[in-house]
Amino acid sequence: MSAPAWAEALVCEVCADAGVDPPRLDWRRRRGDHSTGVARRSDGSIAVRAGSDPLDQRLTLLHELAHWLAPAPRRRRAPHHGLVFYRLAFALYVRHGIAADDALRLESARYASSLRHAASLGVPGAAERLAERRAAQRARPRRQWRVLVPEHPVVLRREGRWHVCATCGQRVVAAALARARRARRPVRHVLMGTEAAATAS
Ligand SMILES: [Zn+2]
Ligand SMILES: [Zn+2]
Repeated sequence: MSAPAWAEALVCEVCADAGVDPPRLDWRRRRGDHSTGVARRSDGSIAVRAGSDPLDQRLTLLHELAHWLAPAPRRRRAPHHGLVFYRLAFALYVRHGIAADDALRLESARYASSLRHAASLGVPGAAERLAERRAAQRARPRRQWRVLVPEHPVVLRREGRWHVCATCGQRVVAAALARARRARRPVRHVLMGTEAAATAS
């Protein structure tokens, strides 16, 4: 299917503003609310799989356009969604009709790290959202690691295609298995687990 007129117009406008050649726009539908997209510089195209939410369609297209405009990374491992990218992306969102609050909500639903960048760029509301998320993370209970079986010598026992420790049942593989077999005196280990694992066994 061909892209909707608003999307073609948006591609032309953004690229004209930036003084770059526009990509070819490949547009298809997908199920669900959310859209996905990919910008392929080598192919000269942006592909969007459009979900049902019009605002998310628009944000997705602008996100890919930000990739299109972003300078090609000099270093191979330069962050794909780093501060440089988000400076461009949030500027496009604001300029092309997406309210800061919607941009933060939709963008952070895909990339949680976008909030941190948005906050350092001074996007309105980003610092508050970031503080809320951090508070929520702190409130979540941590998994408690504890000793399930205290330190003991590893006694190898064959179990199907695996070796396990006969005392604690832990699988012994790879380097640990080689070490246990090689050792003159028995290797010792501890079985650690989380509370959840402890109650399950
Ligand atoms: Zn992206
Ligand atoms: Zn053991």
